[in-house]
Amino acid sequence: MITLTIAVFLLKSIAIAQFKCATPTVNSSHVVTQSAQSIQGGQISPMIAAQPDGSYTINVYFHIIRTTAGTGGVNAANLPTLATILTNAYSPMNIKIVNAGFDYINNSTYINFTDSQFAALTAVNNQANAINVYLLYNNPTEYGGKTNAVPGHSIVIANQYAITPVVAHEIGHALNLWHTFHGQEPGGCAELANGSNCTTCGDYICDTPADPYTGGPYFSNGNCVYTGPAGYNPDVTNFMCYSAPPCLTHFTSGQGTRMRNALLNESVLQPVILSISGAPAFCSSQVYTVSNLVAGETVTWSVSQSGIVSLATSGNQVTATKVTQGFVTLTATINGSVTVTMNISTYPSLTSLSATMSGTCSNGYQTWYLAPTPNMAGATNWHWTVDNPSSGTYIIQSPNSQNTYVTVSGGGGVSVTYTDLCGETSHKDGVTIYSPCGRTNAIVAFPNPATNQLTVTNDNIVAPGDTKTALTPGSYTDYSVLLYNDKGNVLRSASNSKGNKAIVLDVSQISNGRYYLHVKQGKDLIEKQIVIQH
Ligand SMILES: [Zn+2]
Repeated sequence: MITLTIAVFLLKSIAIAQFKCATPTVNSSHVVTQSAQSIQGGQISPMIAAQPDGSYTINVYFHIIRTTAGTGGVNAANLPTLATILTNAYSPMNIKIVNAGFDYINNSTYINFTDSQFAALTAVNNQANAINVYLLYNNPTEYGGKTNAVPGHSIVIANQYAITPVVAHEIGHALNLWHTFHGQEPGGCAELANGSNCTTCGDYICDTPADPYTGGPYFSNGNCVYTGPAGYNPDVTNFMCYSAPPCLTHFTSGQGTRMRNALLNESVLQPVILSISGAPAFCSSQVYTVSNLVAGETVTWSVSQSGIVSLATSGNQVTATKVTQGFVTLTATINGSVTVTMNISTYPSLTSLSATMSGTCSNGYQTWYLAPTPNMAGATNWHWTVDNPSSGTYIIQSPNSQNTYVTVSGGGGVSVTYTDLCGETSHKDGVTIYSPCGRTNAIVAFPNPATNQLTVTNDNIVAPGDTKTALTPGSYTDYSVLLYNDKGNVLRSASNSKGNKAIVLDVSQISNGRYYLHVKQGKDLIEKQIVIQH
């Protein structure tokens, strides 16, 4: 019975709570700009596609309008609930909302607010480093909410919508979103029902279906189901449509990309973005601060891993001092809840060496390209060396450069030392390179003619990632030899000891003549003619 009562109440509240937004629908210069950006060779332009995975943290500041006597208005105790609504709306878009604080505007001039007062009201106590949300004392007849421009920074919200998703809708405008039905107004460029002009008309976003709304009551019912003209299938739960506030639940991925692009590129939005300032790499110590704080915001600092840097906090700034070389994530927590991060390092040390095969086999040799990661521009005294010269033949083409080609037969480790940006000598252990090619060239039998001993060597080594043998990568492959006479009789046979390159045959008791040496390595069989002469 209680459940039923609540359900009836919700339906009723949805039915009466449809809102109207008066954010400017045409900003001609901006529309042209966005259209031009949207089409480039028939594809979504680089600007629209830029930084799709970036994360942004923005300040939102609330102003509560009351009488001159300080009575009435939105209850400030409900602001955390509003902040939660905004966080739930924007965090899936990689946009973090900071509740930057609030003030009261106790001025009865504004308690019967009308749109003619928009500019005057939004000039009061306007915070330069926040999107400003003015929560009205009254419910103006003109609209439920309005943002000064698309994109913009100042929003007015009717009293009845103060703690509702309507605020998320208006902040969407501030972050450069249009209504899902944008362009349906007279003279506008409406999105076609099939969405084929989605990049150049409508809201310029292709994953929001065409919305045919042109005025009057919005066409979603109390169950948030579309009831409008056939042939369309708009999303009537999108924050940027005109459904009743309880129906507004989400943005699309395309809307998220457009908002993040606006945060990346639109000058009006740069002051509201919280970010960490300071050099990302340093040798001894570095001061970091949070840019665009609103007065009263607090910052606490931490790092992802201890032992790399020590932190000394002074007010809202922190000094990171190097303890040892390494990489950490520096985190600033704003007002005890929302975080801003920056990857920093007490550089510069290599994290890895990359080895890439270059070209194809040539006479049993393979060439590799070796490079440190990350690129260490500014480091000096590069010196590449071979860990074990006897494990193969190596030709280092640029032994004193940051990157080099190395041509190898056989194989093994190659290492590099250098002087880093802090003047310290660093060493990076080897990366293994090898020649996978030309096995006949890797197998040698000598002396030939032989007298007392015939030595066979095989420079082929076990490649990294080779799981077919139980041998360690970099050691010599297993192989065996058979020495035949011309009648097909086996006169000698032997296998190499694990990991050894050589097999020695005693041929002192074999008569002079021509013989055939078979070298078997896996499925491969290589024949060589041998002459024995005493
Ligand atoms: Zn709107």
